[in-house]
Amino acid sequence: MPVGDSSHHNKLNVLLIVLDAVRADHLSCYGYSRRTTPGLEQLCPEAVTFTRAFSTSAWTPPAHASLFTGLYPSHHKVAANLNLEESVPTLAEVLQREGYHTYGVSGPFHISSQRGFARGFDRYFERYNLPCLRLPGLGITRYELSAEFFRYALRRSLANYDASLLAKLKIQRYLSRLPKERPFFVFVNLSSAHSPYHKVPRPFAGKFVSPEMLAGVDSAKGRSLARRAGYQYMAGKLPVSAEEWEVVQGWYDEQILYLDWIIGDLMRFLQRCGFYDDTLVIITADHGEQFGEHGLAYHQFSLYDSLLHIPLVVKLPAGSDWQGLAGTEVERLVSLVDIAPTVYDVLGIAPPDQMDGQSLFSEPEQQRAVFAEYDPSANVEMVTKYIAAGDELAGKFSRALQAVRTPTYKYILASDGSAEMYDVGQDPQEPHDIAAAHPQLATELRAMIEQHLLPPGEWKKHEDEEYNQQILAHLHDLGYL
Ligand SMILES: [Zn+2]
Repeated sequence: MPVGDSSHHNKLNVLLIVLDAVRADHLSCYGYSRRTTPGLEQLCPEAVTFTRAFSTSAWTPPAHASLFTGLYPSHHKVAANLNLEESVPTLAEVLQREGYHTYGVSGPFHISSQRGFARGFDRYFERYNLPCLRLPGLGITRYELSAEFFRYALRRSLANYDASLLAKLKIQRYLSRLPKERPFFVFVNLSSAHSPYHKVPRPFAGKFVSPEMLAGVDSAKGRSLARRAGYQYMAGKLPVSAEEWEVVQGWYDEQILYLDWIIGDLMRFLQRCGFYDDTLVIITADHGEQFGEHGLAYHQFSLYDSLLHIPLVVKLPAGSDWQGLAGTEVERLVSLVDIAPTVYDVLGIAPPDQMDGQSLFSEPEQQRAVFAEYDPSANVEMVTKYIAAGDELAGKFSRALQAVRTPTYKYILASDGSAEMYDVGQDPQEPHDIAAAHPQLATELRAMIEQHLLPPGEWKKHEDEEYNQQILAHLHDLGYL
């Protein structure tokens, strides 16, 4: 499989960090007013920052499948179907075949081994997947009673403990025990910024949400909005004030600050272990989050930029052909489908035949467009259960969506035949639908969708009742249901 002069790349490691539900415009290194990412600001001079990077979907499973395969959702089929099919080669599989140690730390259950997302990983740590270890009533697992955890707990209070910290510890333990003759590929999903947002680890709690802000709102309502009441809000059953959204976003921003510390600590760990220079580090998100824009919350039911615009920061290994780009910002449109091709390109590994993406460091295509796709079937009932039968509002949450984005315009096509178009160059908040005013352009953009993607009717469904019940139970644990 290796081609050309790939041998001299063989010592390069890859660390892929996915910040679940982190939208680009809430990072201070992307211009946000709150200083949420002091650690990334230190990394950026050594990295390439892609200012216009976009997800391929609104939520976790299709976006991760795109990351792992370089394909859009209707091509990798994790759209209506939540299973990553074995016919599609993944990044971990290719690197494992190339002799890499491969280790994954899954965040949510949606990207579990049962769903095909562990394929190619020597080991795939799934915190949620150890139900036999759950201690009833305590809400903690036997793992958390292990010597490793207690060593940690001696240094920090239990209140600070959280899944992202566990993920960091697992990676550090894995890498510190790794034989160094072969390179590694480590993937981690850090899910702290995913709802519920309000349980912020102690050193970071209160950084952006002041006692005055909390005093100005019904804090119980704020907490329920941070957890799951956003579904009632979307159904028109729960009015939310600007002040309440401010508090919820403050908690979310504190979680981003916490994740920024986790990332910084991982970078310091790579340096201490001598891995840093030889490691390609990719920091991105699977999708963003909605805080009342277009009447929406969390990350479902739309393909607006609050969900699609994601951070993407790439630290190249020392000696890379593109190291001259360190410290620069790249403004051209890039997508999650470009991540896998980039890893193959930097490592000098022959990519699988079928990929929609292209290396972030290849010669940019002229007039490039990026795409996104969303199927609501796994999530629609979370909102429609609050909507009366026959209310036409329900239709808004039942539509599959496809979007194409050029540097200037975005066109969103819904499966009910309706469409929206936005001048995202002028109006990044997408407030004014201009589809009716520009029918010729709308027709052209729709043709691009039809040319590049499969229609929702061809998104394969996978039926597995027992597993669907497990998924529902986990969604309930996460506070979705
Ligand atoms: Zn996600």
